[in-house]
Amino acid sequence: MVCVRTRLLATTRDMLPSMPHVFEPAPSARSKCRGCGQAIQRDELRFGERLPNNFGSGEMTLWFHPLCAAYKLPQQLLEALSETASTLPDRAALENLAKRSAAHERARRIDGAERAPSGQAACRCCREIIAKGGWRIRVVYYEEGRFAPGGSVHLTCRRAYFEVDDLLDQVLRFSPALSPSDREELTQAFKEEQSDPTPKKSTP
Ligand SMILES: [Zn+2]
Ligand SMILES: [Zn+2]
Repeated sequence: MVCVRTRLLATTRDMLPSMPHVFEPAPSARSKCRGCGQAIQRDELRFGERLPNNFGSGEMTLWFHPLCAAYKLPQQLLEALSETASTLPDRAALENLAKRSAAHERARRIDGAERAPSGQAACRCCREIIAKGGWRIRVVYYEEGRFAPGGSVHLTCRRAYFEVDDLLDQVLRFSPALSPSDREELTQAFKEEQSDPTPKKSTP
């Protein structure tokens, strides 16, 4: 039975892509965005990534806010944009963001920021401990419909690790759990580091 199932799955994968990714207005407010974890409002435009269904035959669709997909799934979004009417709202902005994310693999892993709850985890970039209460950016890896946690990076190591400037909007987008005052502090922390003419080196 296991062998047959494996063979069926392999066959399904070989046949991809059978259905293209899709844009559509959400028919209800029940779907959640896989990118930010927040609800997608009724009638709001949503992006669906089609994947083979790992639990049986056919396909499943994973829903995203188009902007979240531009950050986290740029190739899939660009593929869908190329097959979508030019009247799609915010098309140019989505395309520009997706192109930037497509060119920067590590920037696609950004999953928002938080204050380190303990002083135990090491930064993926400089390998030094992230002090308790210090700002860190969460890293996730996306593979076949799942985001897997991949540690975090000092806020101050963001340029060295993600290799992109101007990440504030993206980091705020994936930090829905932060309070308004935390968001304000995070924004300030981004600015302070930016105004430092001699950023600290990650290695001696
Ligand atoms: Zn989202
Ligand atoms: Zn670091």
